[in-house]
Amino acid sequence: MDYPTLRIAHLYPSLLNVAGDGGNVMALVQRCAWRGIPTEVVSVEQGDSPDFTTFDLILFHGGQDVEQQVVAKDLGLKVPSLTEAADQGVVIFAVCAGLQLLGHRYVPSVGEPMEGAAILDLETHAGSQRFMQHAAVEVTLNGETGTVVGFENHSGLTTLGPDARPFGTMVAGAGNNGRDGTEGAVRGNVYATYLHGPVLPKNPWLADQLIRIALERKMGQPVTLAPLDDAEEARAHDVALAKAVRNKGQYTAVTPAELVRTR
Ligand code: GLN
Repeated sequence: MDYPTLRIAHLYPSLLNVAGDGGNVMALVQRCAWRGIPTEVVSVEQGDSPDFTTFDLILFHGGQDVEQQVVAKDLGLKVPSLTEAADQGVVIFAVCAGLQLLGHRYVPSVGEPMEGAAILDLETHAGSQRFMQHAAVEVTLNGETGTVVGFENHSGLTTLGPDARPFGTMVAGAGNNGRDGTEGAVRGNVYATYLHGPVLPKNPWLADQLIRIALERKMGQPVTLAPLDDAEEARAHDVALAKAVRNKGQYTAVTPAELVRTR
């Protein structure tokens, strides 16, 4: 199969790369390479304002409030083209801080409220509890349902508005706000989740959905990706799922003070 090159924009890699989210870019590139699908990855940093409609996939990852403030100040420059890309169906995959900044705004516990891109109908306010644990989410994409696993690490409590539907429903973990059982948000080909890990290497099903959607949009025809040997990925998935389920009902798997004292 003669595949076109998939152009991937990686937003703010030097500022937003908490919990190894950069591994999501590697997973997409490698899963494409194993199938002979060429890719081109472009880092988009502060001050850059590319035409985002020229990309097929855009990744926007997690970060701490301090870095998020820097990103939020720069984001306005990019919003018109990012919004155009989202409206045209470019696949956008966002994680945690990226999710929060695609919304209307994020109000942190310390510092200025951060204006978001308003591409997703959601708003986030910092809570007093930090969600730090393995989590599992039931996700349906393209009529297929799977369990996506990853690691939560956020204090932001996100509420979805009427124009955003959840990415999934919680199997184990806190999700958007530890209250309504929703996780992440979706609008068109914009997918956002709170799951770090990085999430895509442990969830090849999800990685392949993103690749397939981007390819089908670019080629204008249905695409069936060649199956890969995902034994290692499946093992990593199952280990993370077991940890999430074991900790079900908790908000965190880590109690920093105790950890320091006992070990
Ligand atoms: N700083 C945000 C929060 O705490 C996002 C954290 C993250 O991206 N891991 O909620």
